[in-house]
Amino acid sequence: MFMYDLTVYLSLPPYLNSVAVADELHMIFECPALQAVRQQYAPLFSTDTNTMRSFFAQQDHMQVFKFVLDCLDVFHI
Ligand SMILES: [Zn+2]
Repeated sequence: MFMYDLTVYLSLPPYLNSVAVADELHMIFECPALQAVRQQYAPLFSTDTNTMRSFFAQQDHMQVFKFVLDCLDVFHI
């Protein structure tokens, strides 16, 4: 679903090395380090948008894009 592979850009902080942070699914839906960002974009997360396909296919593309950028910011990318 991504235009590029996030794993190329993610340099993992040491405390997260054991987790699959580089995985896009983990970043979007699971990473505890990004819970605050997810709350900030709460409207993007519903039972209708709980898969990678539906998440990126939802109406508000700009919000999805900003969410991903904010997630990357957390990892200082
Ligand atoms: Zn994580």
